[in-house]
Amino acid sequence: MRGEALVTAAKPGAAAASLQGAVRDAFDGMAERLQAFRPQLLPREVGTVASVFTGIARVHGLPGVGFEELLLFPGGLSGIAFNLDEDGVDVVLLGDHAPLQAGQEVQRTGRVMDVAVGDALLGRVIDPLGRPLDGLGRVAASERLPIERPAPAIMDRAPVTEPLQTGLKVIDALIPIGRGQRELILGDRQTGKTSIAIDAIFNQRDTGVLCVYCAIGQRASAVAKAVARLREKGALAYTVVVVAEGNDAPGLAYIAPYAATSIAEHFMESGRDVLIVYDDLTHHARAYRELSLLLRRPPGREAFPGDIFYIHSRMLERATHLNGERGGGSMTALPIIETEAQNISAYIPTNLISITDGQIVLSPSLFALGVLPAVDVGPSVSRVGGKAQRAAYRAVASDLKLAYAQFEELETFARFGARLDDATRQSIAHGRRIRACLGQPELSPMSVPAQIAILLALNAALFDGVPLDRMAEAQRAVEDAAQAVPDELGARLAGVQALTDADREQITEAARQAIATFLADQEPGSIAHAAEPDREKASGPPLPGAAPAQR
Ligand code: ATP
Ligand code: MG
Repeated sequence: MRGEALVTAAKPGAAAASLQGAVRDAFDGMAERLQAFRPQLLPREVGTVASVFTGIARVHGLPGVGFEELLLFPGGLSGIAFNLDEDGVDVVLLGDHAPLQAGQEVQRTGRVMDVAVGDALLGRVIDPLGRPLDGLGRVAASERLPIERPAPAIMDRAPVTEPLQTGLKVIDALIPIGRGQRELILGDRQTGKTSIAIDAIFNQRDTGVLCVYCAIGQRASAVAKAVARLREKGALAYTVVVVAEGNDAPGLAYIAPYAATSIAEHFMESGRDVLIVYDDLTHHARAYRELSLLLRRPPGREAFPGDIFYIHSRMLERATHLNGERGGGSMTALPIIETEAQNISAYIPTNLISITDGQIVLSPSLFALGVLPAVDVGPSVSRVGGKAQRAAYRAVASDLKLAYAQFEELETFARFGARLDDATRQSIAHGRRIRACLGQPELSPMSVPAQIAILLALNAALFDGVPLDRMAEAQRAVEDAAQAVPDELGARLAGVQALTDADREQITEAARQAIATFLADQEPGSIAHAAEPDREKASGPPLPGAAPAQR
């Protein structure tokens, strides 16, 4: 600035320009030299293994090693440098520690852990290091990305506007998920958590949404079952499965969701929509706790390390909807958490609930009643999905939620054998039909028009005359009627526009006729049974509302 001012005083025009040119040249030279600069690694900086524990090793003699740098051990074993002390480095091993011995050589790589990404991974089952587990040979991916990357900046993000249909009525209508959202699935053991995620993946089959299923710390048989289901239904073709099994090193379980996120992120950054499922983060948190305790980091609440919130938030922050300038892709995350005795206020569940944009809570008592998927609508919520939900749903969802909530209250009350007035009995009968309609078998996703037709019929109380055990067939009749509506109405049902009153009337009428025809085809005995369908159930099985509510 001073030089420029002096020159301007002496000779305003040409001299100023030449000085500016000289400064620019100097800067260009510097930029070139900076680009050519590479940190000089010692030709072969080699350390030695001092001691080995389950999943970690202590290494001496690597003074220049960086935090989270990838280190190579003999026999193809790798590790990540974690604790950097003056007298040594603690390394998290990404594989079996058994063959490793004190005194063996450790080599620096000068880079952080990365993973193969790209379309070549679709249809493959790999471990977090990108090694194939499906026996189909090497994964021929040309690109690699670091497993840890900064989340997209705020200005690179766009609002969530597109729905991600799961094909499950209870979720699409009452807890809608948008593309770019993070929705937690939490429930006790064996309550159908994985099934919801697999259904969601299966329903992306003609939508162009790519999927990544990351299995962490599960039994090999459970993973094999999930993969077999995806393959059988043709869903593996657009899915990448990343697996760290229960008996793998804790280091592998720790990096698995990060590697899966980078794979999904690559798709998102190339402008595509991705759905990523982390099944489940409870196992991930446990693996990290195990590592932290071995690394002698101070334990905090429930013996988890202090940064357990941070390791999950920095991963889930990477799920977003990018704006048009960044390609407009999106990553929708469905992390899964296993609770114990429905305790959603334990440490890891509360962390994840506060990180995500909503949660789908599964109830073991509903599961025991045979209400599947066992979604407990009360504590389940989606904080951004409502904005992305198709307008046709919005018109029916609020009435449905209200009627269902009222029913749940009344049902608990009716269990005590109280004499009920007609209106209450009718509300309970209506509620039971809502519950029956919200149930759905596995791997049978329903199209948007069929869902809307059933929900409209429910709101108009058309199912109330149908015996409870015939609800599945009655629903199928309405589904068929929804397929048969004129094309332009079908397009409006599946589209983004709100339905007009006339549209709604037309669909409700079609459903009314379908149900009337269905009932007329029934034997006279079952119709008589339909008139008093709920009496025998009034003192029936234990009800979900009666379970101790622990929030
Ligand atoms: P885990 O805690 O072991 O991971 P999970 O919560 O993931 O279990 P799933 O494995 O998804 O539960 O499901 C448990 C069982 O319930 C499975 O046998 C599955 O077939 C069954 N199931 C889940 N959802 C449904 C459904 N909608 N209809 C019928 N059966 C279902
Ligand atoms: Mg599971």
